Amino acid sequence: MIKSIKGTRDILPDEVGAWHRVEQAAHQLFSRYGYREIRTPIFEETQLFARGIGADTDIVAKEMYTFPDRDEEKTSLTLRPEATAGIVRAVIEHNLYQTDPALKVYALGPMFRRERPQKGRYRQFHQVDVEAFGMERPSIDVEIIQLALDYLRACGLTESQLILNSVGDAKCRPAYVETLRSALRAHKDRLCADCQRRTETNPLRVLDCKVPEDQAIIESLPKISDHLCAECRDHFAEVRRELGLLEIPYELSHRLVRGLDYYTRTTFEVTSAALGAQNSVLGGGRYDGLVRDLGGPDLSGIGFALGMERLVMLIPPGPQESRCDAFLAVLVPRAFDRALLIQHDLREAGVRVLVDHEARGLKSQMKKADKLGARYVAIMGEDELADDVWTVRDMTTSTQERVSDVKLAEYIEEKMRGRDAG
Ligand SMILES: [Zn+2]
Ligand SMILES: [Zn+2]
Repeated sequence: MIKSIKGTRDILPDEVGAWHRVEQAAHQLFSRYGYREIRTPIFEETQLFARGIGADTDIVAKEMYTFPDRDEEKTSLTLRPEATAGIVRAVIEHNLYQTDPALKVYALGPMFRRERPQKGRYRQFHQVDVEAFGMERPSIDVEIIQLALDYLRACGLTESQLILNSVGDAKCRPAYVETLRSALRAHKDRLCADCQRRTETNPLRVLDCKVPEDQAIIESLPKISDHLCAECRDHFAEVRRELGLLEIPYELSHRLVRGLDYYTRTTFEVTSAALGAQNSVLGGGRYDGLVRDLGGPDLSGIGFALGMERLVMLIPPGPQESRCDAFLAVLVPRAFDRALLIQHDLREAGVRVLVDHEARGLKSQMKKADKLGARYVAIMGEDELADDVWTVRDMTTSTQERVSDVKLAEYIEEKMRGRDAG
């Protein structure tokens, strides 16, 4: 038997309701903030991600699904490991920054990374991704944070914590990185092997280290907040002031950094105790250099990404929904044409209706109707056919009525409307 690939999973019909709910919440809420959906291809040229994510990151170095194109071996393709690079490419390719007066977009969909499989982590996983371009003032940082928190709440996550930092910009960060590097060199022999390497290659990433023995040293390192230039300091102060104005609580963490050069100023993360140990729900921030790095104009950007699998896990399973309002039980083959005609009338009227295509006996059809959660079963046997009527059984009251064939659609429609109103 062929099974699904390790790290992938099927979202079965019984589970899909929770997915619809988080998707619907995204469509509804994001449009209130002026965001419109964008859909970019699942695969792109490999170099887009190498440039957009950074060649020395784990994602690009170890986790991408990369393959030569079948006919043009020189073209290397990659299944998208994240959404931002593809969105930025589309923004540049279609000049959206020139035509859209408020360039705010979001995307939903599968991403692919060959990570070590573990609980709740998949190699094909889904993300919600939100991006705003060309807006430099701190108020957009705050708006996007508020959007992220509102979205989590709309999905039913009540317990969450916002963590905030500023990582400076091209003007002030290089000097901080050097300060950090010299501080790290002083401790070099006592750090883990990864951190010893990072001290030389990318000292900011030391701040991400989870090795327990390194924590005391990391806490004692110089903090970027003490090394921001005046502009970055003002920007961050205004972000914090507006968060206060909107009564959005947050915690500062000088360790919330991103190793890539194009990340600037505000970075944030939302965690939730409801998720247990791996408690990060979403992460985001400003990336003012990315559009330019990918060949576009010098356009600022800010956004966040969130893993949908973890969000769906948090949503309590709703009651199993009924599959149909009405079920047509045909007991004589000659009545089947009536069922086909009425079935279509009912569907056009918005009634969910099913018929037993196998036309088994009454008992088995009633059982099936019950399993499908039908509110009404319309039965046509020999007697009914002769009188041109259906026997309609109300499954909740176990009462039944005879309804003429021409009136059946109208009858059920009216009953359904009455019930919906009641
Ligand atoms: Zn370390
Ligand atoms: Zn700065």
